[in-house]
Amino acid sequence: MPTKKNNINTEKLDKVVEQARKDAEARGHGYREQALKMYPWICGRCSREFNRANLRELTVHHKNHDHDYNPADGSNWELLCLYCHDNEHQRFEEALANKGVSMGGAKKQEATFQPFADLKDLLDKG
Ligand SMILES: [Zn+2]
Ligand SMILES: [Zn+2]
Repeated sequence: MPTKKNNINTEKLDKVVEQARKDAEARGHGYREQALKMYPWICGRCSREFNRANLRELTVHHKNHDHDYNPADGSNWELLCLYCHDNEHQRFEEALANKGVSMGGAKKQEATFQPFADLKDLLDKG
């Protein structure tokens, strides 16, 4: 008779690993699957249409730029192609940069001060 310890075979371990992977996926990318089910596969900016062959070029944009804000009704999601998604984030960062300039005031020493540095890090994640 095998001991309880020996019962933990690789098959079981594989299942644990698989489940962990699924959990991580659900946390990280689950919203993409949901958004793709919810919305037509069309870029919200340039109206480019997508199919299974090029679907990975269609990305989910978070309207409020908060990737952790994923309401189930999809109200924070917008499907954008890679190019339009890039543009969208560039515009947002430029808007932040402009704010930073006006908030920085006239003092030259404040030129290196980046009030939105943390926010930019967040955006860079996607
Ligand atoms: Zn587009
Ligand atoms: Zn985005």
